[in-house]
Amino acid sequence: MKDITDPHLIYSTDNGSICPDCSKPIKECICREIRRNVLPKTSGKVKICHETAGRKNKGVTIIYGLPLSQDQLEKLAKKLKSTFGTGGAVKDYTIELQGDQREKVAVELRRLGYSD
Ligand SMILES: [Zn+2]
Repeated sequence: MKDITDPHLIYSTDNGSICPDCSKPIKECICREIRRNVLPKTSGKVKICHETAGRKNKGVTIIYGLPLSQDQLEKLAKKLKSTFGTGGAVKDYTIELQGDQREKVAVELRRLGYSD
């Protein structure tokens, strides 16, 4: 049995490169996946804001402080976008939705159990 942490294996042509972070072959590297599933530090309070500064048309509704990973946020954003029929994006652990969706978002998040 070869030791997978053997430094000579790092550039082995048999296995390809080994990821220095998870010690798995790059092909099977799980670091990206792990990073996507990291939960942000939050105060536990979800904030819903409407911002119009520098925005086109009706501005955007921004949801802060959800205790969700990037992956979960993207899923939730997708759900909210289709529920409200609007566009949006996930940025730095916030969800942005086009237009003023504060009331609808508040109702929906309460329904999903993310805020009281
Ligand atoms: Zn890795």
